[in-house]
Formats: sequence, structure tokens, C-alpha cells
Amino acid sequence: MSSNGNKLELPANIVIRDLAQKIEKSPIDLIKKLMTNGVMATINQTVDFDTAAIVVGEYGFEAVLEASDDLATKEEAGEVPLWRQLIAGEDSSQLKPRPPVVTILGHVDHGKTSLLDAIRSTEVAAGEAGGITQHIGAYQVEKKGRLITFLDTPGHAAFTQMRARGAQGADIVVLVVAADDGVMPQTREAIAHAKAARVPIMVALNKIDKANANPDRVKQQLAELELVPDDWGGSTMVVPVSAKQNQGIEDLLEGILLVADSNDIKANPNGKVIGTVIEAELDKSKGVLATLLVQNGTLESGDNVVAGIAHGKLRAITDYKGKPIKKAGPSTPVAVMGLSDVPSAGDIFQVVKTDKEARAIVQERLEAIKTQSQIRKKVSLEDLFANVQAGEAKGLNLIVKADVQGSLEPIVTELNKLGEGEIGLHILHAETGNIGNNDVMLASASKAIIIGFNVQADVDARRMAEKEGVDLRLYEIIYRMTEDIEKALKGMLEPKLVERTLGRAQVLQVFTASKFGRVAGCKVTDGELRRGAKVRLQRGADIVYEGDLSSLRHEKDDVKEIRQGFECGVGFKSFNDIQPGDMLVCYIVE
Ligand code: GDP
Repeated sequence: MSSNGNKLELPANIVIRDLAQKIEKSPIDLIKKLMTNGVMATINQTVDFDTAAIVVGEYGFEAVLEASDDLATKEEAGEVPLWRQLIAGEDSSQLKPRPPVVTILGHVDHGKTSLLDAIRSTEVAAGEAGGITQHIGAYQVEKKGRLITFLDTPGHAAFTQMRARGAQGADIVVLVVAADDGVMPQTREAIAHAKAARVPIMVALNKIDKANANPDRVKQQLAELELVPDDWGGSTMVVPVSAKQNQGIEDLLEGILLVADSNDIKANPNGKVIGTVIEAELDKSKGVLATLLVQNGTLESGDNVVAGIAHGKLRAITDYKGKPIKKAGPSTPVAVMGLSDVPSAGDIFQVVKTDKEARAIVQERLEAIKTQSQIRKKVSLEDLFANVQAGEAKGLNLIVKADVQGSLEPIVTELNKLGEGEIGLHILHAETGNIGNNDVMLASASKAIIIGFNVQADVDARRMAEKEGVDLRLYEIIYRMTEDIEKALKGMLEPKLVERTLGRAQVLQVFTASKFGRVAGCKVTDGELRRGAKVRLQRGADIVYEGDLSSLRHEKDDVKEIRQGFECGVGFKSFNDIQPGDMLVCYIVE
């Protein structure tokens, strides 16, 4: 290969036509050169950097990989949001700014729906004929001649569901916080979701019309959560609004444009057509109706589309107002008809050349699903460690739930200490309360495991964890938990033994029996006690004894088990220091 030191920046992938243009040669000539190098390609085909480098080398250029195109590596390093992966193969010189896509998250009743309505009505007020009559899961508004796309199914579930499928609809999260109520559990949860997805957050400080609104208090709370308001010298934009009285909406829209400008939101309108399914349903008369968000390229009616395991030739495309359109560029939400099946929200869609190609992709996916469900990819503590060792993950992601704030804080402190070693430990979310669906969704989307301390997992959440392969670990003792995590970080985790609590009993009185020495007279407060199981005696936060439950009596009889509500006598081998008020926990190890 000759080289005169004539440097040429090339992206990771480039279409032959563009490559020819870059070096000012005829594409035919280029195709011939490729052929002599054993590569058969047409003018519209894409070649990778290595191939392109060889060919341009023959024309005397020295190819260098464009720095900005190395997105996949940055994504791994945790610097780039997911949507950019979709456009990683695009020639960066072709990227154009596109409207930001915004989603609204926040605590229940803080005004998400009201805000979406207020924003939607600004456009109607601005004199748009007809306004928005149908809801397709997304809409657009115009501000200063620029468009903003809003996803209008608020809520964390929708947002996380997308991420769990590897998609990311939103570029910006608007966090709604009611000025009279402040930061609440779901506010924290929303922040965790947005941070895990690396989506910039701005705050709509809602309900400022209320007499008891206290913006400063909310700002203080936000600052404590590392969202330091801009007027306090931080980088989080906080816009006071009243969704109810239509105040501050224009400021909010302007704010969104500012955040968009500092985040370089781009796509190639002429590139590969790809995007995300926002929602889909089966209509009795119209067939499958789906809302698609185009994220790169331009979607046209008549295109062959594959979305998840659904495919089809698009018959009709309408915009969010129900108006038929022929084409839709990046960040445009559209309603489409013509898919064979109902895809899932969060499925990635792409345009392919022929129906045959579409079917082949679907077939491949169906087979992959089959084998996948056989292998059942599990995000367990053991696997995560293996991934960290293999260099595929940067650390362990955890979601921590505890019964009360008082136990959550020391747990987080302990865990953070453990995470100071070589392998990082990231607590994505720490909150009091039982483990619910949203926690499992966040875990699944972020490849995290869930640690519960003195909490339970809802039935639904358990089912979902099972389905998504999320590892749920429940503990009742802090050191057990830290021990497990420490072992996992050192790669020494033994086969998982799970402790299952059978029941609890309270020691009411202590008496002496000749055979056993001291015997605890207890009342079973929940579940049951079982002879032969393990038992632990707790005094406040301390464990005073741990061993086998070898003696269990009801009145004068030896019994195998005893249920909630009944009284019983329990003796401990070689342990006599029992006190009234002690709690007895009976469990088995599986
Ligand atoms: P969501 O659960 O977050 O979607 O909250 P909604 O939009 O349903 O609003 C919850 C309640 O707060 C409703 O009764 C709204 O009318 C009220 N609300 C929403 N925004 C405002 C506001 O700016 N000011 C006042 N005073 N009330 C509001």
C-alpha cells in the first residue's frame, strides 16, 4: 500500500458512494478496486473501516478512524446514552440536529399528566388547525421554529420497559416535582432511572400557584440528590411552572431547547432507518396499529419494516394529529398500519429492502428467542462477577430496598465502603419499601441485582424477576448481606444458599425444665416453627444464638411444628441466656 501521508478521516462504516465522493473518484473505479481486493460491493453498500482503509490506501490516502465515531467504546465506558448506539454506524459528517425527545417523570399526583396536557394545549392555543385530537403516545410542539417531541405516556414503567429492551426513546427527562410536596419516593426513583440511562434531567417545579408552595425547600432537596439547581450555581435547570394555570410552560420549552443544544442530539436523515416502538395495539377493523418513533433515517409509506418479531409493508403513515403523511424524519412520532403482529413497546424497528429479508430476520429472531429461553440468561450475582472479571462489565450494579430509612443508611454506607476496591459497586437506587415491579424493571434494564433488607418482594415483582432473570436477594441481617457482596466482589461466592423464614415467635417467659435447662415460653407471631429447622434468637438488633431447633413442645407434648397464634416451649442445646422479649426466627436454608 502506497501512502503519501495524505490523512483521511473515515467513520467505522461508510457507503461506497460517500467514500468515492470523499476521495473524489468515480464510484465505478472504487468498486473495481474493491473487486480486485476480493470484495464485491454495489454503490449503495456499506464497507467497514478496515476495507475502506485498504482501498483509499491504493489512492495514496492514509485512513484514520474518526474519533467521534467510536461510540460503542464510549457507551461501554458509560459516557454515552443508549440511543447513540443506534446511529453508531452513521457517517458523522452526515449527522444533523434533530428535535429532542422528552419524557416526563415524577411522583404520582405531582402533575405529569396536567403538564403534558398544558404543553399540548400551547400548540392549540397557538392556532394550529384542529389541535391534537388523537393520542398516539407521543406528540410534537413547536417553539422558536424548532420542534420538540414529547412521549405522552408518563411514568417510570414505560421508560424502563423501553430500556429493558435495549431501546431508549427519550433524550431528556423532565422531572416534575410539586412545589408543595417536594421530593418523594417516586421522584428519587425517577432520578435513579434517568441516571442509569444517562439521560440528562431538568426539573419542572410544578404547582407554584399553590399557597403552600415552597420552591427553596425543593431546590434544597434536589441539591442533596446531586441535582444542584442552575440558579444555585449547579447544572440542573429548574423551571417553576403551574400546569393548572398555564404558567411557565414557554420557559420550560425554552429550557428543553437549551438542554438539547448542550447535548448534541443528532441523526442522519438519509441514513439507515431505525427507531423504537412507542406503543402498539390490535384494532378490530384496522389491524395492527403501532406508534413508531423514528430515530434515524426517514421512514416512508411502502417501506418494509421489521419491529421485534413483527414485520410488514407500511400501508399508511399518519402524524400525531392523524394527518396522512408520506415521510417521517428523525424524532418524528408516527402511527402506522401494516404490521403482521403487535410489537412490544420498546422494540427496535428497522427498514429492510424486501419482504423476504424482513421474514428472514423475524425467523432468525424467533429462533434466537427459542434458544435464549433454553439458556435463560440470568443476571445473578455470580454471573455479574464473571462478567466483571471477563472485562464485560465495569462493576456490580445494585438496587437496595430496606424496611426503614434507619436501616437503609447504614446499608448504603457499608456497601459504598465495599465498593472502594478494584471492582466498583454502583448503587443505582436505594429506597425504603417492598420490592415492586419498577425495581425489577430497573434491575433488568441496568443489569443490576436487587438487595432487600427486612422487606418482601411483591408477588408480581417475584414473577417478573423470574421472567426477566433478575436476582432478588433478601436479607434480615446486615452482615450476611455485606458478606455475600464482599464474596461476590472477590469472586468467591459459593453456590447460592437462600434462607427462607418459616416463622417468628416472641419469648414471653423463661422457665427451667430438668431435661433442657432453660426453656423459652413463646407465642408464634407469624408463620410456623418447625422442629429440625434452624433457629435464631434475636435481642433487638443483636443475634444472641443461632442453631438447630431441636426441642419444640406444645403444652406437655413434643410436636413437629406449631402455627401462628399458638404458644409453645422451645429449648436450645447448650444455651441458657434467654430473656423475655427476645425474638425467635425459625428458618431453613435451601
Ligand atoms: P400525575 O399523577 O403526576 O399525572 O398528576 P396529575 O397531572 O394527574 O395531577 C394531580 C393533581 O394535581 C390534579 O388534581 C391536578 O389538577 C393537580 N395539579 C396539577 N398541576 C397543578 C398545578 O400546577 N397547580 C395546582 N394547584 N394543581 C395542580
